[in-house]
Amino acid sequence: MTDHILVLDSGTTSTRAIAFDLSGRIAAVAQRALTQHYPRPGWVEHDAQEIWQHTLACAQEVVTAVGSDRIAGIGITNQRETVVAWDRDSGEPLARAIVWQDRRTAEFCAQLRDAGHEDEVQRRTGLLLDPYFSGTKMRWMLDNEGTVRAAAEAGRLALGTVESWLVWKLSGGAHITDASNASRTQLLALDGAQFDEGLCDLLGVPRSALATVVDTQGHLTDTTLLGGRIPIAGLAGDQQAATIGQGCFAPGETKATYGTGAFVLTNMGQTVPQSANRLLGTVLMQDKGKRTYALEGSVFVAGSLIQWLRDSLGMIASAAETDALARSVPDSGGVTIVPALSGLGAPHWNAEARGVVTGLSFATGRAQLARAALEAMAHQTRDLCAAFAADGAPWGRLRIDGGMSANDWMAQDLADVLALEVERPDMVETTALGAGMLAAVGTGQFASLSDAAASMRGAVRKFDPAMDDAVRDERLFRWDKALRAV
Ligand code: ADP
Repeated sequence: MTDHILVLDSGTTSTRAIAFDLSGRIAAVAQRALTQHYPRPGWVEHDAQEIWQHTLACAQEVVTAVGSDRIAGIGITNQRETVVAWDRDSGEPLARAIVWQDRRTAEFCAQLRDAGHEDEVQRRTGLLLDPYFSGTKMRWMLDNEGTVRAAAEAGRLALGTVESWLVWKLSGGAHITDASNASRTQLLALDGAQFDEGLCDLLGVPRSALATVVDTQGHLTDTTLLGGRIPIAGLAGDQQAATIGQGCFAPGETKATYGTGAFVLTNMGQTVPQSANRLLGTVLMQDKGKRTYALEGSVFVAGSLIQWLRDSLGMIASAAETDALARSVPDSGGVTIVPALSGLGAPHWNAEARGVVTGLSFATGRAQLARAALEAMAHQTRDLCAAFAADGAPWGRLRIDGGMSANDWMAQDLADVLALEVERPDMVETTALGAGMLAAVGTGQFASLSDAAASMRGAVRKFDPAMDDAVRDERLFRWDKALRAV
């Protein structure tokens, strides 16, 4: 009986395989850490062979636990924007993968901006000219890695994002990429079916090395490496998968993931998003060629601020302790933290900004600082909320997930400051669940994603706003003032 879905979650720091049953219960999990390579300041690389070997090992472990004849299909979700170059003949990587965090193409992005290309790139792709995205990383490999250039000249070069690489290996040579991952390369126009010749020329990436853009769900290809022939039936970048796992299927529905950083996506339906507030437009999913789009805003520092309090300042022993500390005082005593420790992301986009703490007094202690750190999450999210509303995407409620969302005090503070209902699923593996839901629909286990959500998404806990307007106004006044000091 095929009553399980295998999800391969290829993250930045680890690779996991999870088997879900059709009620969304986790039947088996395997996980392996991924080596991070930092060859120079600002550079971050992964070994693509290690990504593949860990993925295969985790998949085999989970399939052995569940039974390969019980796997209806495979869903893959991945760290987005990371670029892999491999040889079409040997199927081997040609260089280290360049990871999304890598800033080595900042100068090339600045040249493109100075040459006046940003408006057109943003209008067509929904993305800003920033080293974060894949296209300039591909170009860097062609310019700087002899093996990559030689393979391109010999017509043997394959370039792709991580899901594309894994599909190639699993299928034995299918070169496809799903539209959600493709929309992070700067080489896909949001309304174009395949990679765009003009954008490829602008960035200097040969279109012939790129994959065919396919749906995020459906019978996309097969693998025979895990026992029998198993369809690969769902593909999505991690943030898009989490949005699906949170059941954000109607325009306006929004999720925020609070991990190291925070990523917010709002479903925009079939309208191609055009932000006037420095948010990103992206493909959320694609079914039979029909796209659903999202607006996206990222905050660089979320849980990493709590990590910093713990590891660099030694102020707390565990991240979870901040909850009790925040509750132990009536307020932050006037302390406000702007957590711009690595610049400010959306909607400010100020890479040079650095953190600020205002309102310190002799009455300030650990509790006030911990509370101010958690309050900063609501403040940053409020700025995003305002930008989304100004772009015509007001939020009706906010669905949260990610490691930091376990903090009840923060969840309530979000509801209070945003004056919105906040919802948190009991099962917080929303990224893997979303990829599982796509594959469950792709293999015909459910007729629609709504049906899959009804069966696979579990209970949620709600947090209702309960803050006086005057308290909220005072908080936001202090935040806006502190922001001007960065
Ligand atoms: P990522 O996927 O980015 O690695 P996770 O979703 O695992 O991150 O979340 C981990 C982050 O959340 C860490 O930075 C940690 O400091 C923070 N975090 C985890 N639990 C809590 C908590 N109870 N309260 C506050 N922060 C937390």
